Parts: sequence; structure tokens; C-alpha cells
Amino acid sequence: MPQQPAAKRIKNFEEVALGYQEAQALDEAERCLGCKKKPCVAGCPVNIDIPEFVRLIKEKDYLAAARELKKTNSLPAICGRVCPQEEQCEKVCVLGKKGEPVAVGRLERFAADYEAAHSQPANPELANPQPANSQLANPQLAKYRVAVVGSGPAGLTVAGDLAKMGYSVTIFEALHKTGGVLRYGIPEFRLPRDILDREVDYVRSLGVTIFTDMIVGRTFRMQDLLEQGFEAVFVGTGAGAPKMLGIPGENLSGVYSGNEWLTRINLMRAHRDDYATPIKVPTRACIIGAGNTAMDCTRTALRIGAKEVTIVYRRSRAEMPARAEEIENAEHEGVIFKMLTNPKRFLGDEKGAVKAMECLRMELGEPDESGRRRPVTIPDSEFIIECDTVIVALGQNPNPLIRTTTDGLKCESWGGICIDSETGMTSLPGVFAGGDAVTGEATVISAMGAGKVAAAGIDGFVREKHSIPS
Ligand code: FAD
Ligand code: SF4
Repeated sequence: MPQQPAAKRIKNFEEVALGYQEAQALDEAERCLGCKKKPCVAGCPVNIDIPEFVRLIKEKDYLAAARELKKTNSLPAICGRVCPQEEQCEKVCVLGKKGEPVAVGRLERFAADYEAAHSQPANPELANPQPANSQLANPQLAKYRVAVVGSGPAGLTVAGDLAKMGYSVTIFEALHKTGGVLRYGIPEFRLPRDILDREVDYVRSLGVTIFTDMIVGRTFRMQDLLEQGFEAVFVGTGAGAPKMLGIPGENLSGVYSGNEWLTRINLMRAHRDDYATPIKVPTRACIIGAGNTAMDCTRTALRIGAKEVTIVYRRSRAEMPARAEEIENAEHEGVIFKMLTNPKRFLGDEKGAVKAMECLRMELGEPDESGRRRPVTIPDSEFIIECDTVIVALGQNPNPLIRTTTDGLKCESWGGICIDSETGMTSLPGVFAGGDAVTGEATVISAMGAGKVAAAGIDGFVREKHSIPS
């Protein structure tokens, strides 16, 4: 796949992976066997008919391929860029048994980008928002209003699916911009903002109304939505509360959570001098963790001008949870990987700024409950790493706001909202939930899959309540 060269791309925020040219997409599509049993479809959390959309690419009917994708996935240009396909559809592709699986994600991106390029600038759906697929929309349902809390992939999917069915849907988003982690977490060199804007516009074009700067639990409470006549509420508030290490020195200046680091750069542009709260450009940055958040923090630090960037991880390379492609990209960009290393405390200077990290060396023991080998401390192995910036990127838990302001909402001890897995309904009738708010930090496509389950659950709930046949 063509890419911006590493030496060039670490100096800009432009997209790294450049996408297939038409000839490459056709060559790749030709490889697909169109298997009758469609194992790849079962591997996709939103069950895209992969052989069918690939067949349409083979036939050079790219717009039809994009339409096929959008039947089950409202955000194909995003999924084509950020989904861990190697763990999903591509993992079960029959061609993968003896060689390379079909590059489903790249083909998905190609079809979605083709559609975007050929429906601009005048996309009538965006100019005149209304349910785009009148065959699916049921006018009888338009009088039923559904509220969606949060505009991340879970919320956008629920909203898109319900609007396609014919419901009147309103999204309430806490931040001043839509997209959730897609905007404030994943940097634009992986997901350009015009792609995200276009896919959010597509959801709007289905007739969905979006209000930003509305913090449910603070601006108003969840019960208020039900009392104001919404038939159902979907909670897709994600997992925005960072996990920290809880070791001495974590409050020193220059120690950030991954969430804060990325939000300040992606959403608030804090790396630019002309912004009110500029972020200090690190000389030596250490990023703790090895998931997608850690990779994004690392590669963002490089792009704002950090001289040396090191990933510090307590297990080994084989256990790193980030997408394989992103680990490879970080490596090519010059990131140092310090494996089997765990911070013990952060050390500060006389002004209270971090200046170093005391670490312990680790070795791998027996597998733990996650199936990965457990890191075990090597006694008396302390050593110092000098650094002026530390980013703790260990993942996130759900924010407690909704849970603490909604009476009767049953949650797990760690904060995840409890739901019925068949319908997505919570302990409160008419209140549904899905995505990271339920599972803790997971993936874009799993949040979308949960959104689809909840949309069907909400449809069933409203129909039953009002005796509407399906
Ligand atoms: P979110 O995307 O978190 O959206 C929740 C939304 O709800 C936010 O907009 C938030 O502002 C809003 N909200 C919260 N509370 C309230 C409230 N009280 N009132 C109103 N609105 C509220 N997954 C992948 O598949 N591939 C990747 O490459 C990848 N990279 C990632 C990189 C980073 C840095 C991070 C943090 C995550 C990454 N993930 C990735 C995980 C993925 O982004 C999430 O699993 C996914 O976004 C979850 O979707 P969601 O809709 O549940 O929540
Ligand atoms: Fe094509 Fe692979 Fe799916 Fe078979 S399993 S239909 S080869 S993508």
C-alpha cells in the first residue's frame, strides 16, 4: 500500500497510508474467491456482505460497492482506515490459510473514498437532509423520537440505523465537535478530519439532528429526556476516564494521560503557538503502554517535534495490543521500543517538572486471564530513564457522570453499564447502551456492532409499546 515516506510524514499531520489506486484495487478484488460460505462476513462485527461488495469492485461499479457497504455500515471510509481487519474479516479469509488474505479494509476504503470523490461537491443528500433511503424508512415511525447520548461510532450507528428505519433521532454530544474518539483520540494522520466530517454529514443527511455542547448528567439528566417525550434513549458515552499508574510523581508537570495529550493536540491544537494553552514540545518523551492510544501519542509527539520518543511496555513485542500496521509505522518513524520495562516512580526537578523515570525490568511468567503471559518483576533491577515528558496511555474506563446522575442504572463495579446482550437495554426500561460505555475501551467496529444491536432493540421496544407490527 502506498504511504508517505517516514522521514517526510513525521514532519506533518497528513494521512500516512495513501490508499489504493484503481488498478491496485482491481488486482486485489480479483483475488477474492467469492466463497459461498462467506467466512469473512461472519468475521465482521457488522456483517458487511464482503464478497458482494468486492464483486462490485471487480465489475468496476464502485458506487454500487459503496452502497453495499453502507447497507450495514454507515461509516465505511472510517472503518476502512482504522478497523483491526487482521483480527476480524481478514483473519478468517480462506486465502489467509496459505498466503495473504484479501485486503478487505483497503478495498472498503477504496470504495468509500471513490464514492466521496464522485459525489462532491454537490451531494444532494447533504444539501437537503432527509431520510436518504426512502425504501427503508417507514413514515409511520417518524412521530417517535429517540435520543442518542454521545456522537462516537456507537451513537452515530444507532442514529443512522434508526433514521433509516424512519425514526426521528436527536444526538446530544458533550463536546463542541462530533465523532468521539474518532475526532479527539485518533489523530488526523490516521483519519483525516474531512473523512470524518463527511461520514458524520452522511448520518445528518439521513435526517438525524445533532446538538453539541450538551452534557447529559449536567446540562440536563437522562430522566429529563424520557420525560420530554423521547420514546427511548441510547447511551453511547464511551470510555473517557483515563487509567493511571498510581505511582509516586504522577502529578508532576509534564506527566499527561494519553487522553489529555491527544485531546489537547487533536481537538484543541495545543501544539500550535497561536493557541491559548500551548503544549511544551518534548525533548525526550516516554509513552507508557502499547495499545492504539499509546501508538497515537507516540507518533503525535514525533510530529510536534519531540527529539526522542520511547514506548515503555511491561510485556514483550508479541503482546502489544495495538494494530500491527500502527506498530510497524511507529517503528519506521524512529520510535524506540523499550520492552519488559515498568515504571516505579517519576522523578521531578526543583520546579516540579518531570525529569526522569525510575523503572524496573520485567520477565514473562505464566499466561494471565487475558491469555497473555504475565509480566513479573525482576528484583533489584531498578534503572533510570531520563525524560521531560511522560504520557500514561494504559486505556480508559467509562466516565462516571451518567452513572452517578441516573437513578436505577445498573453498572459493573468498574463502571461499565450493564445491558441485555440481545437488545442492548439497560436496567431502565427504554434506556439502551452500547460501545465503550458498556465494554470499556474496545474498537470502533465493536462499538458500531453494539449500536446496531441497540437500534434493533429500540425498534422492537417502540413497536411493542405502541403495538406496531414489524
Ligand atoms: P466514543 O468514541 O468514546 O464516543 C463517546 C462520545 O460520547 C464522545 O463524543 C463523548 O464526548 C460523548 N459523551 C461522553 N459523555 C457524555 C455525556 N455525559 N453527554 C453527552 N455526550 C457525552 N479502535 C479501532 O477500532 N481502531 C483504532 O485504530 C483505534 N484507535 C484508537 C486510538 C485512541 C487514541 C483511542 C482512545 C481509542 C482507539 N480505538 C480504536 C478505540 C475506539 O476509538 C473506541 O472503541 C470507539 O471510539 C468507541 O466508540 P463509542 O461510540 O463507544 O465511544
Ligand atoms: Fe473473498 Fe476471503 Fe471472503 Fe472468501 S473469505 S469471500 S476470499 S474475502
